[in-house]
Amino acid sequence: MSSLSDLDSQIRACKKCKLSEARKNAVPGEGNPHAKLLFIGEAPGSNEDIQGRPFVGAAGKLLDKMIHDVLGLERKDVFITNVVKCRPPDNRDPMPEEIEACSPYLISQILFIKPKLIVTLGRHSTGFLFAYSGASFPGITKVRGKLHVLKIGNLETKVFPTYHPAAALYNPNLRETIRDDFVKIRSEVNSNLYTIDQFFNSDGSSNKR
Ligand code: SF4
Repeated sequence: MSSLSDLDSQIRACKKCKLSEARKNAVPGEGNPHAKLLFIGEAPGSNEDIQGRPFVGAAGKLLDKMIHDVLGLERKDVFITNVVKCRPPDNRDPMPEEIEACSPYLISQILFIKPKLIVTLGRHSTGFLFAYSGASFPGITKVRGKLHVLKIGNLETKVFPTYHPAAALYNPNLRETIRDDFVKIRSEVNSNLYTIDQFFNSDGSSNKR
């Protein structure tokens, strides 16, 4: 399997789908390669396309705030990426063929990182992982806020869907819902035998799997 940095290089040079034509930068994702917590969004937006980094706009600020205020962590402690690594024009939804072309990168990232918990942000990443693992997906509102166990390749992993933080920018009520979901994520993390500090090391060197 490729290393994360090999994957990063492959993604930045990738031209497997038409999204490569208008992008400024592909956005592979960033964070701790040994992270126990992996966040998966939909696709890069304008700010992410310019900077080549995930979740750096207003939605990213909200995600950072939830990670910091509710989980007591920093961005460098977790790994953040998207299903589709290049920006869809005009921030449209990614098309099925774009997800199909790009998702092998995400699967490789998951299998490399082997997170303890995956938090899917919104219907695209959630729907993709449910479909990939063979689980039925009745919609984000039905599955969010609960823990699911999905099989991704040989990896059986816990997946916790919540709404995409961008949705809370337009619907302030969702901000509280997302915060409530992050409280549950914190409980799930703390339900392990490790304290949150032991669970998430910035260098991953002493983490238990
Ligand atoms: S969206 Fe994914 S598959 Fe398409 S060009 Fe970008 S990295 Fe390649």
